[in-house]
Amino acid sequence: MDTFLHGYCPRCFHVMSLLSPMPSTTSGRGFYTPNQASATALISHQILVLAPLPEPLDYRHHERVAAGTRVRVPLGNRHAIGVVVGHAPHPDMDALKAIDAVLDALPLADARWLDLIRWAAQYYGCRTEAMLRTALPNWGRSGRELQLPVLAYRWNGDYPRGEQRQKLFDASQTACPVEQLKAINWPIARTLIKNGNLEPAELPQDDTVAEVGPTLMPEQADAIARIDGSNTPWLLEGITGSGKTEVYLQLAKLALSRHQQVLVLVPEIGLTPQLVNRFEARFPGQVIHLHSALADGARWSGWGQVAMGKRPILIGTRSALLTPMPRLGLIVVDEEHDPSYKQAEAPRYHARDLAVVIGHRLKIPVVLGTATPSLETIANLDRGRFQHAQLTRRAGVAKPPATELIDLRSLSLHDGLSDHALTAVADTLQRGEQVLIFLNRRGFAPVLLCHQCGWHPECPACDAKPTVHREPRRLWCHHCDHQAPWPSRCPTCAQRLDVIGQGTQRLEESLAHSMAPFPVTRIDRDTAGAGGAGKLLEQARDNLPRVLVGTQMLAKGHDLPNLTLVVVVDADQQLFSGDFRAIESLSQTLIQVMGRAGRAEKPGRVLIQTHEPEHPAWPHLLAGNYRALATQELEIRTRSGLPPYGHMALWRARNPDPGIALAHLNAIAQAMAPHRHTVKLLGPSPAPMERRAGQYHAQLLLLAADRKSLRAALATPIPPAPSRLWRGLDMDPHDLF
Ligand SMILES: [Zn+2]
Ligand SMILES: [Zn+2]
Ligand SMILES: [Zn+2]
Repeated sequence: MDTFLHGYCPRCFHVMSLLSPMPSTTSGRGFYTPNQASATALISHQILVLAPLPEPLDYRHHERVAAGTRVRVPLGNRHAIGVVVGHAPHPDMDALKAIDAVLDALPLADARWLDLIRWAAQYYGCRTEAMLRTALPNWGRSGRELQLPVLAYRWNGDYPRGEQRQKLFDASQTACPVEQLKAINWPIARTLIKNGNLEPAELPQDDTVAEVGPTLMPEQADAIARIDGSNTPWLLEGITGSGKTEVYLQLAKLALSRHQQVLVLVPEIGLTPQLVNRFEARFPGQVIHLHSALADGARWSGWGQVAMGKRPILIGTRSALLTPMPRLGLIVVDEEHDPSYKQAEAPRYHARDLAVVIGHRLKIPVVLGTATPSLETIANLDRGRFQHAQLTRRAGVAKPPATELIDLRSLSLHDGLSDHALTAVADTLQRGEQVLIFLNRRGFAPVLLCHQCGWHPECPACDAKPTVHREPRRLWCHHCDHQAPWPSRCPTCAQRLDVIGQGTQRLEESLAHSMAPFPVTRIDRDTAGAGGAGKLLEQARDNLPRVLVGTQMLAKGHDLPNLTLVVVVDADQQLFSGDFRAIESLSQTLIQVMGRAGRAEKPGRVLIQTHEPEHPAWPHLLAGNYRALATQELEIRTRSGLPPYGHMALWRARNPDPGIALAHLNAIAQAMAPHRHTVKLLGPSPAPMERRAGQYHAQLLLLAADRKSLRAALATPIPPAPSRLWRGLDMDPHDLF
């Protein structure tokens, strides 16, 4: 990898870029000794050490290291990595330990970013160090040097001989991106780099784009004009195909023309290929991707290129939000309602909510794009905190799909599908079109049961029945990953065991048989692997007749123009889940899945199977009227004081022994008792699934009408956690499991 040249500080081997000024005394590289140090004034540094400590620690150094720079420091009898966060004077400099080494030539982030990390840690109730740890890629945490690749070269020398060299000469009169040199002739370019005919240069950043965008619809032009240059959050509401991406692209172009950086958040990179591809095509060489599937080296390099302001556009998943961007001018959160923006383990931050906070602090626009806005976002719109831009036209589509509810009561089913649904599937395939069958349950079947004595397997570590998987053949607990063999006979009465209910594996097997010779592709976590569902969906782009069976992974991803029928196998499970967000997320998923049926001239059809045709959610869902459903749900939330009209925090605790977590949360509830007049304390109670992965889980729910009261209650000193007890605060919890 080509890198910028570095020099070293003669005193401490602090890596210095040749761009930064060298110290005037150059005594050569030598070991740092106390004698040398005494000649210079010592400066105390506050270091946020990556170790479970409550506060930053003070260390001294012989020169001022800027805030945002990583350092290596002694900690007890070992060494740790930390980041300089301040320079408060220290009364007893001699008592301080010295910084071992300064790891960055230039600070990785500025004071605004450090403030944000502190704020987020405080808001989500974790240590600042834990939030910082989340923000840094693995290599950043382990103290690896940040080596930035050279992104562009400039010609240095005379007019060359030879056609290829002359082409390179013409291209590199001003800085030429490496991607472009590669397109001309990379082997020759590398020789020229070695000889010094091409010298490193900064990547040219301007708004010249590789392709001209399409002519804008009036609604798009209006949205762009209103959003650009504003300093508020925006809901950009529009269904798939309404042109949200073009609005993002045009806003990004405007930001780039002001020399600003752009952050685009997506729920999953593999499932948003169209958005990613269009950004790359429009802004070649300017885009960096950050997501968890990247190798450590690529992730650290990409993070660094954005943090040092070398690349203007960052597209990434949740944690990309925490990348420092010194010239950030626009944030886009695509599919803002997606639950993956909330981190499920500590620190439990919500990337969309934090994006809004960043936008407010930097006074820049934040665009929340979706067809099915979260109830939080709708409430913020109603309160006047967010502004609204709407795209109502769907390009090239005649009309919304025809929807139909199938009442399953007293119908006989074939592996979960009614005759009506099976006929529709067969007809669609015969017409040469594609079918999507949606079932949000992976595995072969949910239950294995002895019809004689009622025996069924249980997970040894959880209060849950393991899911039956056929390939590989085993009983698999989806809550703790425990796996066990699948007994062929009942262990108590030796009768044959029945497999009850449907999972995606069973549907796939059944349909492959009944719909032969048409191919059936299953898309769920078991078949998609770490790379996501993108590759599997890619197959279906051949537009040949086939059946896609899968979980909500199918809701996103490639546009499939020949897909005309969607069958929802079983919506009842979520309809009656105890979770307060169940209807909201069911509607969002179903609207998204239903939106996949029909494109252009081929009308779409959606069949939904249910045992509960009278549920009040159906009329709006069948009409595709998400906003009416949201209004219905918001009324329920208002009446019960639930988010977005109430503010919620959840204390979670767990312990291997029963009763201990519950007793500890009881002690916390008692400490908070003085706040009972402003904050509702619900529980403590065992979690809905109390025993999970061998631990007993309990929770205490705090609900307040205003955020201030909730914060006051949470500021109450609480008893320390007993040993072996894990506890954590979940601010604005997404679910209560
Ligand atoms: Zn130094
Ligand atoms: Zn039995
Ligand atoms: Zn389990």
